[in-house]
Amino acid sequence: MGQLLGGRVIVNDQTVADIKRRAQAVKDELVHKGLLSEEDVQHFLHHAEDWKPENGARVVARAWTDPVFRQRLLEDATAACAEMGYAGLQGEYIVALKNTPDQHNVVVCTQCSCTAWPVLGLPPDWYKSPEYRARVVRQPRRVLSEMGLELSPDTGVRVWETSAETRYMVIPMRPAGTESLAVDELSALVTREALIGVALATDLAP
Ligand code: FE
Repeated sequence: MGQLLGGRVIVNDQTVADIKRRAQAVKDELVHKGLLSEEDVQHFLHHAEDWKPENGARVVARAWTDPVFRQRLLEDATAACAEMGYAGLQGEYIVALKNTPDQHNVVVCTQCSCTAWPVLGLPPDWYKSPEYRARVVRQPRRVLSEMGLELSPDTGVRVWETSAETRYMVIPMRPAGTESLAVDELSALVTREALIGVALATDLAP
């Protein structure tokens, strides 16, 4: 583990620049070699603002209330998300995983930190951590418990390895007692964590 010291990081007794300066150095080198342009970076930054878990939450809320859409989502999530305007980079092949009382789904990228950007946003830090990536595969129920999700022993847990080609989103179960809520209110119950599968949709949202 590194140790922060005056904006620099000590790793194995070697001093390295902080992550911002390292990222800048990598970017400068890629631009210098012609592998990346300033326009590419600006394009990414512009769209990064559009990629957020609220998009996935709207997809889930619609799936809860519209059985025909739900079926389309399960059959071809890429197309179903695109029809709601959520498409593009890292969303070329999205697969929706339906939670049921019998099976809870959780997503991980053991290789790096892939998420379906258009519907989940960029990955959170915990999702990128080596600990989550290694442990959720071996001890999913325990890791979920440590993250505050206690599943019934009757519910099976399936871990899905996302990759450069396939990006998963979880459709959590609709909480009981939400029959009277409108779609917008329902989408407020779905967090990024629920879309990854480390939480349930909650009825405690503000
Ligand atoms: Fe990845």
